[in-house]
Amino acid sequence: MSKVHNFSAGPAILPASAIQAGVEALQNFAGTGLSILEVSHRSPEYVAVMEEARSLVKELLNLNDDYEVLYLQGGASTQFLMTAYNLLEKKAAYVDTGTWSSKSIKEAKLFGEVDVIASSKDKNYSYIPKDLNVPQDADYLHITSNNTIYGTQYKDFPDVNIPLVCDMSSDIFSKSIDANKFDLIYAGAQKNLGPAGATLVIVKKEVLGKVSRSIPSMMDYNVHISKDSMFNTPPAFSVFVVMHTLRWIKDMGMTTIEARNKAKAEMLYTEIEFNDNFKPTTATEDRSHMNVTFLLNDESRNDAFLEACKEAKISGIKGHRSVGGFRASMYNAMGLDSVQALVNVMQTF
Ligand SMILES: *Cc1c(COP(=O)(O)O)cnc(C)c1O
Repeated sequence: MSKVHNFSAGPAILPASAIQAGVEALQNFAGTGLSILEVSHRSPEYVAVMEEARSLVKELLNLNDDYEVLYLQGGASTQFLMTAYNLLEKKAAYVDTGTWSSKSIKEAKLFGEVDVIASSKDKNYSYIPKDLNVPQDADYLHITSNNTIYGTQYKDFPDVNIPLVCDMSSDIFSKSIDANKFDLIYAGAQKNLGPAGATLVIVKKEVLGKVSRSIPSMMDYNVHISKDSMFNTPPAFSVFVVMHTLRWIKDMGMTTIEARNKAKAEMLYTEIEFNDNFKPTTATEDRSHMNVTFLLNDESRNDAFLEACKEAKISGIKGHRSVGGFRASMYNAMGLDSVQALVNVMQTF
């Protein structure tokens, strides 16, 4: 079978080495003779996996011991409410840059006042609002670093002097960032890190424990921290594959990963710009390097283009219904050859 080029938005492409390690661990995990699906998460072999998966995050993001790393369940969608549960005492500021930020705003409103200080809804979320006016009395500012559905991405993060919370589900570890700028980062694993099931949470300890409400144990970051991310059974297999993805990122190096992602994005955006059949949907300066959204000028040819992609073994290219057209998700594990395959189809179409 020839290679399928996987442009899926999530669950999405993973490094071959991480998949292979997962396959092997399904049969014989760490020499135990047992599948990783059937061993205790309290076994020394598994505790070592959780510890490495946590410490690699700190190492790759240059985080000091003020930060804790957790792998929780419930997806990024549970973090929409958990962040507010733990941090929102009176008022929080949010930037609305798409479907996922809107959902986080909806959940936060259950816990206090939400000040939506900027939104790009006026232009169907095709840009990132700049020059934010951040209220100094807000408990935190929440942003979404990459808008998976609309194809926009922050190139510079806002400088604020209140805690900064960020949903990085679809671009974490895709480029070097100053992670110390953030007080809380969360990301569902299934976009750029591993299989669905685990959600990465990075939190600066000093922002916790300040709200007056009581928090149920499973919703309380401090409870999970006190149990080294093993308060209850973690999503064991998912974390195992995440650990191998992080090892792969470390071997590649963040600089290489970033340069490769940039080269892929330039290759595809150049084709969209110069090919008369296609047009972009997003503001040039805010274009995502992870999820590239584009349209055919003649939308009656959409199905024909999807068919041409299918023939070239290109998968997952259909756009989200809120934007239409096409979306090419090009997460870390995708090589330039897959982007070239898509560009070839666009050129001959
Ligand atoms: C996919 C996605 C989510 C939702 O993640 P779940 O793990 O399915 O809850 C949230 N935010 C962003 C930016 C996403 O891309």
